[in-house]
Amino acid sequence: MRRNTMFYQYVMIYFLLGVVFLLVIFLVVLNMQFKLFYASKNKLRILEYHSISTNGFADQITIKKETLIAQFEYLKVNKYQTLWLSDVETMLKNKQSLPSKSIVLTFDDGFLDNYTELYPLLKEYDFKAVLFVVLGKIGQKIDWGGKFINENDNMRLMNRVQLDTIGTHIELGYHTFKHDNYALLSLIEIESDLKLCQEVIDKENLNVFPALAYAYGGYYRKRGHEQKAFFDLLKKYGIRYGLRIGNRINVFPLKNQYEIQRIDIRGGDRFEVFKKKVRLGRKKLF
Ligand SMILES: [Zn+2]
Repeated sequence: MRRNTMFYQYVMIYFLLGVVFLLVIFLVVLNMQFKLFYASKNKLRILEYHSISTNGFADQITIKKETLIAQFEYLKVNKYQTLWLSDVETMLKNKQSLPSKSIVLTFDDGFLDNYTELYPLLKEYDFKAVLFVVLGKIGQKIDWGGKFINENDNMRLMNRVQLDTIGTHIELGYHTFKHDNYALLSLIEIESDLKLCQEVIDKENLNVFPALAYAYGGYYRKRGHEQKAFFDLLKKYGIRYGLRIGNRINVFPLKNQYEIQRIDIRGGDRFEVFKKKVRLGRKKLF
């Protein structure tokens, strides 16, 4: 009888240990997904947008102006503080923590609608944003892929004067010379692209922060010497930060400054999806 009781006690203990073990594994995986246990001041969330429409059109890279306003309102009400990448760098250098609800709003390509629609909104909300410019296409139209409903509204890119004007609220960054995917280029081709970017910056006397948003999120992803040579090349051309997609919230201080992740905000995202992306990064649990 006594033996039996002891046997059951052992079974219970092993069972409980098993439950605790599974719970720990579950929490570790959950933490890997969302970095839940990092203090909020150690989280660097960066959102990625492109074009803004005023005619009700929305797709992967086009957000309706009213949707963007609702999102800005959410960030304001919830007391998010918008930062430039240069602010983040200053905090990094001074070994400061990030403000607990900090966010970097980034816009790719340099669409004209970012001047006509985004810039006034940033002024109204007193928000900062970062604009990644295709340096060889300033004042031109886009000639790479994308679905646009209205050629005149959505395909034009900002010109030199407009890029200067927005400087009070928008910091500029690199987005390659002609919107090539660096993952598909050789190091020699990338080097000439970076040289061309540098020439435009010098010639136009543009104030560009040395952060590069990879076009299509493309970079040398596979670890090894090719990747090292790629990062070294960026360093050689003065680029201090590289931004991919990845859809996760970064842990601050950054582990790798050339693999910073951004959360892609799509025009069709429901409001709940947007809120989840801001709070947790990518929406899928596993
Ligand atoms: Zn782009």
